[in-house]
Amino acid sequence: MVIEMKNLKLAGLQGSKRTVVQVGQVKVGEDFTIIAGPCGVESEDQLMETARAVKAGGADMLRGGAFKPRTSPYAFQGLGLKGLKILAKAREETGLPIVTEVIDPRDVSWVSEYADVLQVGARNMQNFSLLKEVGKSNRAVLLKRGMLSTLEELLNCAEYILNEGNPDVILCERGIRTFETYTRNTLDISAVPALKELTHLPVIIDPSHAAGKVSLIPSMSFAAVGAGADGIIVEAHRNPAEALSDKDQALTPEQFADMTKKARALYKFMASNHIK
Ligand code: PEP
Ligand code: MN
Repeated sequence: MVIEMKNLKLAGLQGSKRTVVQVGQVKVGEDFTIIAGPCGVESEDQLMETARAVKAGGADMLRGGAFKPRTSPYAFQGLGLKGLKILAKAREETGLPIVTEVIDPRDVSWVSEYADVLQVGARNMQNFSLLKEVGKSNRAVLLKRGMLSTLEELLNCAEYILNEGNPDVILCERGIRTFETYTRNTLDISAVPALKELTHLPVIIDPSHAAGKVSLIPSMSFAAVGAGADGIIVEAHRNPAEALSDKDQALTPEQFADMTKKARALYKFMASNHIK
């Protein structure tokens, strides 16, 4: 299958140019970027403690959802504005830029007052009015691949954002649905080198939503480094057992620190040996 590059006027590879998305001091696409934090903001204590822990463990940015797109309407939906205020407080204390999901086009402008990076989740990848709205904002966008979407569809969604004038798009492979049930999704590791030959945008991996279980997350993060990804976004919680969402895939602060140290060592080894 040939991907229709002519539709990818802005997202398509243009010579050797690579986009670096700068968020505060963090340069996504230049260094290996590690984004970590809980699935959702649950309380001020939970978020602040987790933020301090991931900062100490070597994270570059803090993640945390204030709006959670859940399978059941009865599951924890997030704290909304209260959650965003807690995230802003964590940024103030730790200096870590904030990555948080926006699920409704009507929320984009006011969520942008708190977020450094707007996440468009897998379930909303093809929400075209949301894509247009984040394309008009002055915040970087983390666009996650839909669980049933091809790379061509993902790139066309990035094109929607770029076409509105926002150049700062980070792509994220977070696992796709296959017949396999042992893992929550199947990490398409080939998406990394494939996207690298199709687009100049940075590409990161989400091993948490791909695997759905802690035991597999470090290996998948190392695979992301090996495949040439520009970073990872990973779930961590001060106490995973008490997490209100995605507790089986949240690293403890110790597990996060250990994995980060090893991933950075691997990245450094590859860079110094010109393994790409
Ligand atoms: C998340 O990052 O918490 C999330 C809901 O991810 P995804 O959209 O990839 O399922
Ligand atoms: Mn989650």
